[in-house]
Amino acid sequence: MRLSKYFLPVSKEAPSDAAIVSHQLMLRTGMVRQNGAGIYTWLPLGLRVLKKIEQIVREEMNRAGAVEILMPTLQQADLWRESGRYEAYGKEMLRITDRHDRDMLFGPTNEELVTDVFRSYVKSYKQLPLNLYHQQWKFRDEIRPRFGVMRGREFMMKDAYSFDLTAEDARHSYNRMFCAYLNTFSRLGLTAVPMRADTGPIGGELSHEFIILADTGESAVFCDKTLLDMPAPGIDLDFSADLSAEVEKRTQYYAATEEMHDEAAFEALPEDRRVSARGIEVGHIFYFGTKYSEPMNAVVQGPDGQMVPVEMGSYGIGVSRLVGGIIEACHDENGIVWPDGVAPFHVGIINMRAGDEECDAACEQAYQALELAGIDALYDDTEDRAGGKFARMDLIGLPWQIVIGPRGLKNGVVEVKNRKTGEKEELPLADALAKVR
Ligand code: ATP
Ligand code: MG
Ligand code: MG
Ligand code: MG
Repeated sequence: MRLSKYFLPVSKEAPSDAAIVSHQLMLRTGMVRQNGAGIYTWLPLGLRVLKKIEQIVREEMNRAGAVEILMPTLQQADLWRESGRYEAYGKEMLRITDRHDRDMLFGPTNEELVTDVFRSYVKSYKQLPLNLYHQQWKFRDEIRPRFGVMRGREFMMKDAYSFDLTAEDARHSYNRMFCAYLNTFSRLGLTAVPMRADTGPIGGELSHEFIILADTGESAVFCDKTLLDMPAPGIDLDFSADLSAEVEKRTQYYAATEEMHDEAAFEALPEDRRVSARGIEVGHIFYFGTKYSEPMNAVVQGPDGQMVPVEMGSYGIGVSRLVGGIIEACHDENGIVWPDGVAPFHVGIINMRAGDEECDAACEQAYQALELAGIDALYDDTEDRAGGKFARMDLIGLPWQIVIGPRGLKNGVVEVKNRKTGEKEELPLADALAKVR
């Protein structure tokens, strides 16, 4: 992408109404534009990151055996009357009436809708296990939307739903998602800790929240330091195998959100392992058995011919919240420092003297070589001052920068900068291109 032809409305001023650094940086880098309380337009740079996250989430869901669908944002109230949640959900649900006076709603979550899809097609245990997921906008009329996309009213969620014949099978499905989540967050450049959590309005008995630690997090959390240093299971994990050992490896250590916190158990840890911190909830998984299948009559025939309500779980990831969450975890005084996997572009090319024949030619060569190699590059071909270009490139935080100017070209070199370490190196262009791959 050539910056002169792009839409990157960067601003110098830190917006006064943004309380936390990720929100400030998202506004300054022109990633999003607020259109109403908790409602945002995703501008080109922000949209690229959102799509990168969606793709990583998709790959890891697929790897774990989940199947992608797309359910609508608008739902019929009648389905929610079947489960009993239409009244119970309260003011967070945006209720809508259509021209025929039918009660509708903008989905805050999809347990009812997916259960309806399931019961329409699946009648036998032989079609199980099944896990259906989608990535779709949700609406929750949050009482205090804040921190930008971290607590929006309209927000993007990945939600998956598992269906099994028995509670034991459902536990396997839960474990698969548990491991897939650890791999997903690790690919996003985050350390997310699974913590015992309250099930809230979704209901059920078994539940973990996936939390990243950040001073600006809205939840108080408590965990054993061991969990922060434990690597994810890894993408070569065999998802068809029994994963209970992988899960127990982590759940044996203390980790709980405030609602589930047991001070005595926490105090029993050696002092240097006690982590008491703030955290951001980036994912949440639930096993809730037949809470929806029973009232909604989602039944399957078991091997003995009996019809039984299907065992279910649901699994959410805050895809749009993660954009802010990643910035909270990955920034410095000069701006964002994107982890490789989610960066909107992999390389930024800075032309120090646009209009100079040699500089233009070398930049053009670099840009085309990267495009050809399938590497996303943002080429700053504008006529702005060099200082402004450096600051802007640092602010938007691409992993690599290639700086091309007349002085270096005279000596046959360009400068390569690693945004994270700040390390700079002068290299011939070909070597610079090899370095940033
Ligand atoms: P919170 O405690 O932050 O209100 P929740 O527990 O109500 O979240 P869940 O019902 O567990 O949310 O939804 C699954 C995921 O969706 C959450 O883990 C979170 O990452 C994301 N999410 C929930 N509410 C919002 C929101 N208002 N804006 C952005 N993401 C959200
Ligand atoms: Mg909530
Ligand atoms: Mg919560
Ligand atoms: Mg939750």
